[in-house]
Amino acid sequence: MVIDSDSDFYRLACAVPLHIGTTAELANRGIELLVRRDDLIDDGLSGNKAYKLFYNLRAAREAGHTRLLSFGGAYSNHLYALAMAGARYSFSTVGIVRGARPTLLSPTLIDAEQAGMQLVFIGRDEYRQKTLTHLLGDWRRQFGDFYLIPEGGAGLLGARGMSLATQALEAQLKGGYTGVCVACGTGTSLAGLAAGLVAAGRSDKPALGFSVLKGDGDLGTGIAKTYTDLCASRGLGEAESVKSAANWRLISGFHAGGYGKKHPAYLFDFWRSFERETGIPLDPVYTLKMIWGIHCLAQQGYWSRGSRIVAIHSGGLQGRRGFVCP
Ligand SMILES: *Cc1c(COP(=O)(O)O)cnc(C)c1O
Repeated sequence: MVIDSDSDFYRLACAVPLHIGTTAELANRGIELLVRRDDLIDDGLSGNKAYKLFYNLRAAREAGHTRLLSFGGAYSNHLYALAMAGARYSFSTVGIVRGARPTLLSPTLIDAEQAGMQLVFIGRDEYRQKTLTHLLGDWRRQFGDFYLIPEGGAGLLGARGMSLATQALEAQLKGGYTGVCVACGTGTSLAGLAAGLVAAGRSDKPALGFSVLKGDGDLGTGIAKTYTDLCASRGLGEAESVKSAANWRLISGFHAGGYGKKHPAYLFDFWRSFERETGIPLDPVYTLKMIWGIHCLAQQGYWSRGSRIVAIHSGGLQGRRGFVCP
């Protein structure tokens, strides 16, 4: 089983294809775009959520847990991946879902339930306090003991898994790239990708995170902490890039109205034309906004001619079912 072996998982990561995402617009500016199809790493367990779960599943198994519990919304890629991972690796799973149980479940939650996940719906106010010990106690009484995975697979173990993606990328391209881009929710993936570049000896290559949140307030603080903790835990804390200017940047302003909101017409048109031109499907919440952000930065002259940008396709395609798509 893949979760028992770092090297097996890393081998999968090294086999992830790089697809050409260079549009005519980028080509005109002398910029090449490679899309690392981490959405294709495995069927069922796709995208950054697979990477972020890897060390969490391992830790749960090593501690003897048979049940996993985590949190998310009705279209959560994380809960979806957790349900699939539970079914495959014989964990029972509990998904705490934000909001009241609707009469019609979302396709995401229908799949999660079919994979064996027990769903618990809690009110939005209560959800905000979801780590409160009294709720955890209730759930332990209701379901038995469990291993708790933070919402979205956030945290050090999640970031550590994600760092394998840039280490694999380095094995594939051997420095033949200018920088790496990813969409950011919690920023765990960004922290992991940046730390992976340091570990691969490529701290000169920046990792750029495109935030999909309207207010990303103290997101940067959390990313900085995860990044430095991860580098330190791998003995890289003394690297120059870690101490001084970290090799990651958080870019705001490409949320296009906010998290999970209906797309403005210009963004929908961009989405359709990108998919037609490249044949690469994007998810509505994350990767679309990153690819759009990359085009906007290119228009502003952010990258010089001859740049070769790698965009991480972090998955989320199952979430297309909740949106009007091209
Ligand atoms: C969850 C998710 C992200 C955000 O990942 P973070 O590590 O929370 O920043 C990006 N893309 C997709 C497709 C996701 O599902």
